[in-house]
Amino acid sequence: GRSSDRGTAARQARASQLTVAYVALGGNEGDRLANLERAVSEMAEHVAVTRLSPIYETEPVGFADQPWFLNAVVAVETELSPRALLAVLQEIELSLGKATPFLNGPRTLDLDLLLYGIEVIDELELVVPHPRMHERAFVLRPLADVAGDVVHPTLGKAIRELLSELDDQAEVRAWHGTSTVFPPHAEG
Ligand code: ADP
Ligand code: MG
Repeated sequence: GRSSDRGTAARQARASQLTVAYVALGGNEGDRLANLERAVSEMAEHVAVTRLSPIYETEPVGFADQPWFLNAVVAVETELSPRALLAVLQEIELSLGKATPFLNGPRTLDLDLLLYGIEVIDELELVVPHPRMHERAFVLRPLADVAGDVVHPTLGKAIRELLSELDDQAEVRAWHGTSTVFPPHAEG
């Protein structure tokens, strides 16, 4: 029908160009570093991973009695639609054995689609920009490393600005372990 024709046209228009999207990675169970690294290599089978933040070690939010998380953000370039990209992320979560016993509870790996170009999506299964990203230091800190100048499409502020205005007391600290995938923190 007409509306599906329009949907197809929109997909084709999108497919003719790459969109830059940002994905948050986090996990606090099992081998946290290996899980982040595996997620990146699995992502790279579907999209171009163009930038990686350093890794941060972060205090759990909401439910404190669980291990600290490792968090990072990557930039990707893709022709995939936002839905298709989310499906890829969910497939990777499953392949890494994601188990989320309860909201904000421990998980081997959580992958959140933060930004997809300047698109604003408000669907049952997919909300972009991610609705809680601007409240979370464990997201904004690494996102600022790879996208400090990027303007949040609904808040109209640069990521760096959102980070500086943030009042999240949860600790986010540079993680100084060795990764062959993620870059180290700058010294000093
Ligand atoms: P959280 O990431 O908030 O801790 P979950 O990962 O368990 O919680 O939530 C996954 C659900 O969130 C999925 O059902 C997915 O459809 C939905 N969702 C909505 N918007 C997004 C988004 N931008 N990125 C990832 N998942 C999203
Ligand atoms: Mg999630």
